[in-house]
Amino acid sequence: MAKKIITSLIIISIIGCKETTNTEVSIEEKNVVEIEPSKPEETEIWEPIPKEVTIENEIPSDAIVLFDGSNLDKWIHVKDSTSATWYLNADGSMTVKDKSGDIRTKKIFGSVQLHVEWKSPSEVQGENQSRGNSGVFLQGKYEVQVLDNNNNPTYVNGQVGSIYKQSIPLVKASSPTGEWNRYDIIFHAPEFDSDGKLLKNANITVLHNGVLVQDNFKILGSTTYIGSPKYEPHGKEPIVLQDHGDNSRVSYRNIWVRELD
Ligand code: MG
Repeated sequence: MAKKIITSLIIISIIGCKETTNTEVSIEEKNVVEIEPSKPEETEIWEPIPKEVTIENEIPSDAIVLFDGSNLDKWIHVKDSTSATWYLNADGSMTVKDKSGDIRTKKIFGSVQLHVEWKSPSEVQGENQSRGNSGVFLQGKYEVQVLDNNNNPTYVNGQVGSIYKQSIPLVKASSPTGEWNRYDIIFHAPEFDSDGKLLKNANITVLHNGVLVQDNFKILGSTTYIGSPKYEPHGKEPIVLQDHGDNSRVSYRNIWVRELD
């Protein structure tokens, strides 16, 4: 920062001295250069002090726990806003109830850090997009694909870790079929002006089992099965988990979120 200010000052000095002699310019430059910080403490910033976050059971103290295995109270069905009826399992997970429909958080969110754990069924059924397909939709519109891609080729912009039909993951970092995966997602919501015009695209970074698979990708609009992505103006929206409707009994556990706005 200091160097940038100094550079600007030098330029201003040179412009201001256009009509003067070369000797005068060099004196101005010499004066400006003298404000370059020379002591360590001149570049130390002490405030504001970042809020302290502690970690318990690997969950940050400022996180909102959306699912801890005890109940589905924070989730409702997308189609009719009734209580979520996905299977609640004894091991602290929940499983998609086929054709019951997508579920969403009751709470709505803007920009977030989201942690989700998921696993595809141990028993392999179907192929391509019909094997262990689910998805984590940020703001109900932007899908990070969940899929059992192990020995199961599909279009790569729809594979596990993709931003569906928009961004191929950098690598495939899946656990073996039937074992737990982790997604850690940093999502920045899109911004719109009061007329609904897009001011800033959403962007997303995704770690799959701790491995970077989406690196600050600029989202192009809602992720759609058919057609091109488009933005429709919106405010805060829920997080949605997908029932793909083809007996893809994907399970989820340990879901928490930190609000970033
Ligand atoms: Mg999906």
